[in-house]
Amino acid sequence: MRLKIVSVGEAVLRQPARPVTAAEIRSTEIQQLIQHMRETVNDAPGVGLAAPQVGLPLQLAVIEDKQEYLAGLTAEQIAERERQPLPFHVIINPVLHPQPAGEVEFFEGCLSVPGFTAIVARSRRVRVLCQDETGTPRIIEASGWYARILQHEIDHLRGTLYLDRMQSRTFCSLDIYARLWKNKTTAEVKAGLG
Ligand code: ZN
Repeated sequence: MRLKIVSVGEAVLRQPARPVTAAEIRSTEIQQLIQHMRETVNDAPGVGLAAPQVGLPLQLAVIEDKQEYLAGLTAEQIAERERQPLPFHVIINPVLHPQPAGEVEFFEGCLSVPGFTAIVARSRRVRVLCQDETGTPRIIEASGWYARILQHEIDHLRGTLYLDRMQSRTFCSLDIYARLWKNKTTAEVKAGLG
């Protein structure tokens, strides 16, 4: 079942989500929610979806990056983003630990801010402590695009949107992005818009 994705302006996107208990993780309701969020993010399509984006203030997000999503990027762009396909997985009650590997700046977007994108600086490497869909504790070590996705989704669970972190002068519609900036380097974009 496809769920309705709420857009910026809805209060649920601005409130801290609450932890999910072990009993809740095992419940039919949460297992169904995970399945429905999977269908919703695949349908969008997107690489991540947090529970607040479907109106539920729970610390749960789903992530999946598919080979086909990389089709619009050059090999160079994929390499500089350190982006590679990620299998579907669930993060519950995550705690983010940025690692000392500097920051990287790329355009990112959000299903709750449809039609727009902006450059956001993110930690290049992170460690995330969380539980998976069975309640099993997990430690995720991520870098590059995966680290960006994790930071974006965990922000959602704190009531934060990329709009709060973006370099606001680079904010643009996806149409303009595709026409003018998609194949430019971050330095070129900042020279043009900064
Ligand atoms: Zn988002």
